[in-house]
Amino acid sequence: MADDRFHVYDTTLRDGAQQEGLNLTVADKLAVARHLDGLGVGYIEGGWPGANPKDTEFFRRARTELDLKHAQLAAFGATRRAGMRAADDPQVAALRESGAPVVTLVAKSHDRHVELALRTTLQENLAMIRDTVSHLRAEGQRVFLDAEHFFDGYRSNPAYALEVIRTAAEAGADVIALCDTNGGMLPDELADVVHEAVRTSARVGIHCHDDTGCAVANTLAAVKAGATHVQGCANGYGERSGNANLFTVVANLQLKRGFDLVPQDALADMTRIAHAITEVTNVTPNSHAPYVGTSAFAHKAGLHASAIKVDPNLYQHIDPALVGNDMRMLVSDMAGRASVELKGRALGYELTPEHTKSLVERVKDLESRGFTFEAADASFELLLRDTVHGERKRHFDVESWRVIIERTKGGELVSEATVKLHAKGERIVATGEGNGPVNALDKAVRLALEQLYPELAKLELVDYKVRILEGTHGTDAITRVLITSSDDTAEWATVGVAENIIDASWQALEQAVTYGLLRAGRETP
Ligand SMILES: [Zn+2]
Repeated sequence: MADDRFHVYDTTLRDGAQQEGLNLTVADKLAVARHLDGLGVGYIEGGWPGANPKDTEFFRRARTELDLKHAQLAAFGATRRAGMRAADDPQVAALRESGAPVVTLVAKSHDRHVELALRTTLQENLAMIRDTVSHLRAEGQRVFLDAEHFFDGYRSNPAYALEVIRTAAEAGADVIALCDTNGGMLPDELADVVHEAVRTSARVGIHCHDDTGCAVANTLAAVKAGATHVQGCANGYGERSGNANLFTVVANLQLKRGFDLVPQDALADMTRIAHAITEVTNVTPNSHAPYVGTSAFAHKAGLHASAIKVDPNLYQHIDPALVGNDMRMLVSDMAGRASVELKGRALGYELTPEHTKSLVERVKDLESRGFTFEAADASFELLLRDTVHGERKRHFDVESWRVIIERTKGGELVSEATVKLHAKGERIVATGEGNGPVNALDKAVRLALEQLYPELAKLELVDYKVRILEGTHGTDAITRVLITSSDDTAEWATVGVAENIIDASWQALEQAVTYGLLRAGRETP
């Protein structure tokens, strides 16, 4: 477990998930949590159990499916409602029952918000904080408090804002995170207020939004003023202009301020982790992101090129390797020798140096064409098997497929797919109908194969993600499809890339079925 003296607290799964266009399934959330744990953050806020069924489900599944090495989970929720006991509030009960070792309670610290939004008295708001914090503490959970609208509240009524801090600390909250909820602060003014908050002798944390473009700067200023708990989101996700980018915050504090926040080797994996998370969120990565962007250490050739060759440090603020980035223009997520070897071992393969070399080359080549293997573990394993065992025999050979999309008189769109394939010496033709072309193809291929491989009945397509990738060197845009499939016991993901979306989907689908058959113990005939 991480050192308690300074907290790196991630809120991607709660606050970050507020970003427009960002939609995470429970499986996505579990995947993001694993990546964040890999970076070595201390706390992962999983969501708001009780208020959001998906988040309740997340905490339930996390108990059996998450094996966190560094991080502890935090459940987010509000102080009890006015006029009742915390012990009787069902929303507080959901926090208790989440099983999370930490509860982060959001509380009002702005007098006007108490009166206008909560519609209660300033005294009752303090009682709500005192009661909820001490109740959860007595039930054995650690409590952090998010003081919402703290900086605007301090401007409106400084005595009351500070009283909120004292009340929470006295009731047993370990940290009071001061939230710049509207994100309007600038570093100098924010630091002055943090100083005042630290003087209450409560332990102070910081939670910044980026509406002034200062979320990271504000976070650093707060740390200088005495905050010992920083909150932020992976890749700066969040509503409006986003939250403080936790990767930038961690890199700045560790590399420029000498803090020892995450293991050195985990920091050296940060670029890969940042990109792996974008594959889960399906948000195009910001190539200009500090430290982890593909352009963060990319130099325009020409003027500087020769000098860079002599001494790269003349043109870069840190050694990019410290955060797993590269001075080269292209960052290949998987293509490093070490990571391919590691991944192979995790899958149970001991790779010879020749295998590793040829696999790295294939991965590099495919990634340059738009494939990604970070989020497509099953495609990677198929590639690896081909490398180790030679091109595998197929469970089935596809003769052809076609899809028809029809708009009926009633305005309904119906897709019909026909698949012709050869398996176990037979030629099979099957037709499937679906609400979309991919759905129809999925049905047709399964119908064709289920007669020969009944275990395919358990296979299910659980997620489908599409991303349009910009073409390079004057070519057209290409489409990348990631498909997640499952049987009774596991999920796996496959990837397809093509100019045509249905072609890309078909590639991912064919691999998904092949991998499903391998999982079911069907060695190729
Ligand atoms: Zn926030």
